[in-house]
Parts: sequence; structure tokens; C-alpha cells
Amino acid sequence: MASNAQTQIRELGERVLAGGEIAHSEALSLIQLTDSADIFDLMSSANRIRRHFRGDQVHLCSIINAKAGGCTENCKFCAQSSFFKTESPRHGFLDWEPVEKAALEARENKAQALGIVAAWWGLKEGPILDEVCERIEQLSKSGTVRADASLGIIQEQKIAERLKQAGLHAYNHNLETAEEFFPEICTTHTYQDRVNTIRNLKQAGIKVCSGGIFGMGETREHRISMAFALKELEVDIVPMNFLNPIPGTPFEVKEPLPPMEILKTIAVFRFVLPTREIMVAGGREVNLRELQPLMFIAGASATMVGNYLTTPGADAKRDLQMIRDLGLTPDWDGHDGAVPSSLAAQIPGLQV
Ligand code: SF4
Repeated sequence: MASNAQTQIRELGERVLAGGEIAHSEALSLIQLTDSADIFDLMSSANRIRRHFRGDQVHLCSIINAKAGGCTENCKFCAQSSFFKTESPRHGFLDWEPVEKAALEARENKAQALGIVAAWWGLKEGPILDEVCERIEQLSKSGTVRADASLGIIQEQKIAERLKQAGLHAYNHNLETAEEFFPEICTTHTYQDRVNTIRNLKQAGIKVCSGGIFGMGETREHRISMAFALKELEVDIVPMNFLNPIPGTPFEVKEPLPPMEILKTIAVFRFVLPTREIMVAGGREVNLRELQPLMFIAGASATMVGNYLTTPGADAKRDLQMIRDLGLTPDWDGHDGAVPSSLAAQIPGLQV
């Protein structure tokens, strides 16, 4: 006979598959599950929801740390904050050449997009914004991969519009965690600054990639609060990062989340955000270990390939093999992969 939990998982799964929604209280009850058999049932339902709304294609993207270290902000998880003493590299905003090289590598790895990422507070009018727009335009016009970016806080819509005009497709700006928990992770800017940035991006017609980091000491309730905040903001892509504690940061001592807790969290996010691109990003290798392939069964539809900002990622070829072994397809299969730089300029703009 099915347990109460199994009955609830089945009923909620069927409701979501039929186009319905789950309530905040229902998501809370799912994330409190502890029995591994129930969590496997939850993952199985989340897998059906992923398949129904996203198909069997896995979206891949890559990032480049285009301006590293020395950040004025004090996010306690981050190796790049100038508040903490870490081994993280430091350099100014990169020229086109290394960005072009990263774009070609990303394409070889079947990534559709390269995110230009900078460690700083955010963007204002001035020479740095001019340089950023130039780099986005170069990447966009190269036709190698889509131009995405993660460049911090944007307080004015007109800045977002300049990025859009330069050819930007999607912008990553995480909520990071629940509003109630945000002051525990950062005090140099506010949760509201982040929400305002997302609104400015959306008003400029830029796709928003926004999620957060798990395992920073937040409660399960906080995780559900964040999922519903992302739903309300109608973000397009939801990156889920799992803390990889960096020596020298205040969070270096945090206990990692158990893999089953991570998989359950991904599954509940799929129930709350059934149609969205859910991307498992930083920390998947160290936290999920041998259970990494299960992230797709738990409802993820995307992941990052290549290195992270300050930590190495998994071998891209092994990631692609893992995806294919699961019967899934990188959503850029069919494209030719390796592109000599001399040809990059001849590839017509990629349609997504
Ligand atoms: S704003 Fe970004 S780069 Fe700066 S400390 Fe926070 S997470 Fe790190």
C-alpha cells in the first residue's frame, strides 16, 4: 500500500504535469521528506515533469572570469571578495583574445553560450561599461556562441538596454538565497538591489538567469522561499549552485549538504518551476560525487561545462558522455563543435 508521502508525491506530480501548480505549503512538505525511498519517488516524478516540459535535451553553457578578484562586496561564500584572504587570481577586465579563445572552447564542449563574468559591485555609465559593451558585441558578432554575462548590480534600465543593444542574450544575477537569510551572507548590498537588477533586465528584454547557492547554513524553508521568489520574478533560467567551501572565506567551515538532500532540493525546484531551465552549476562534482548523473533524473535540464570562476570543473568530454549515457542529448548536438577561429566570423548568428 502506498504511504501518505508516496500518494502526495504522485498527486502533486500529476497536477504539475497537467499544467497546475503546487502551493508553498506543499513544497515545504516535499522538502521535509527524509526517507530515501520517498526521495527516489520524488525524483522520478520530477524526471517526468522535466521530460514533459523540457524534453530530453540538456542545455549547456560556459563562463569566463573576465575580471577576477578584488571585489568590493563581502559575499561570505566568495573567493573573490577583497574582504577575505584567498588564493583566488586577480586581474583586470580581459581583452578580446582570451574571450575569443574561451568562446571557441565552449563551442567545442557543446556549450551554447559563454557568460562574461566580472567580480565587482555592478555596472554604471562610464569607460568600463563601454569596454564591457565592446566585448559583448565582439562575442555576439563572432557567431561562435551566444553572448551572456554576469556583471553585478544594474540600477538603471538604460544600462541594461545598452547591454541588449551590444548583443547580450542572457544575464546571470542570482538572488543567492531567501530574502530573510540574505543579510547572513552579504551586507554590502541588499536582496532588494538584486531584485531591482532582475526587474531592470527583464524590462530591457534580456533573458534572466537567476538562482542561488545551497549549503550556506540556510534552512529548508529558506530554500522554498527562494524557489517561490524566482517563480514570482519569472526568471528564465535557474542556476542551482552547491557550496564548495573556499579556504579563507567565512564559509570555509560549512558542512557540505548530503547528496540526497541536494537531489531532493533539485526535484522540489522542478515541481515549483516546472517549465524553467533548471541548471545545476557550481559545486556539483564535489557535493554530488558519484551521484552526479542523478541530477538530471531529479529534474535538472541544464548544466555548466568547463571551469568555474575560481575552481576547476569536471572534464567536459566526461560530462558529455554522462549526458549521452543517460539517453539525453546536449542541445547543441548536430552542430559541428570545433570551429577554427578563422571561420568563427563566418558562422551566421545562432538562433536559440
Ligand atoms: S559581488 Fe560577486 S564577485 Fe563580488 S563578492 Fe559577491 S559574489 Fe563575489
